[in-house]
Amino acid sequence: MAPALRLIIFGRQGAGKGTQATRLAAHYGIPHISTGDMLRASAATGSEFGLQVKAIMDAGGLVSDDVMEGVVRERLAQPDAATGFLLDGYPRTPGQAEFLNELLAPGGVDLALNLDVPEEVVVERITKRRVCESCGATYSLGDASADSASCAKCGGTVSQRADDTEESVRKRLATYLAQTEPLMQWFDDRDKLVTVNGVGHPDDIAAALVAAIDAGAPGSH
Ligand code: AMP
Repeated sequence: MAPALRLIIFGRQGAGKGTQATRLAAHYGIPHISTGDMLRASAATGSEFGLQVKAIMDAGGLVSDDVMEGVVRERLAQPDAATGFLLDGYPRTPGQAEFLNELLAPGGVDLALNLDVPEEVVVERITKRRVCESCGATYSLGDASADSASCAKCGGTVSQRADDTEESVRKRLATYLAQTEPLMQWFDDRDKLVTVNGVGHPDDIAAALVAAIDAGAPGSH
């Protein structure tokens, strides 16, 4: 059996990380594991744990490393992760990176991908983003549905999310940078970081990511 392919993806909000992560997971036949999605799903159940998580997320905080260890340990032990995984949103602190390294010892993570899109580009993308309040379809200013505020798919009202303003976006980006820069350095120090240009056509970006993984990760072939 081929060795498992254990990947991490970093990228600013609005860098297209979700799109590319979905494509990579399909390409390599591995699950895309987003800790943010998992925590939102927990929050939605209304359980005691979910409510605690929701309070932290709503306040813009981070769930503690201890709690995240349990979440990640359990998820990576699921059968679908036996052939590998693409982790998105984890690790977020140096303590989480250390934990993951130990959990995956002796090899650790194969490769950390940094989908790089300049701040000014993502600020423009996010501040132009408009979302249908009924079906969740996303548009960009310049699209008829965004300009007319009426969704072409369902007729719902199209508006700007409260947290997609420039002020809010710059704040989220600053937090991302402060958290993520040391982590990218952590992987770079271990020769496990590869940066891929995230500006361009999604097909070309996907091809560049696959080329980087095939060149740099032992479990990709
Ligand atoms: P995301 O969708 O990745 O931006 O995650 C949404 C929220 O979930 C974050 O703002 C955190 O509150 C929480 N979260 C997600 N991943 C982690 C993590 N690795 N460590 C701590 N909190 C996390």
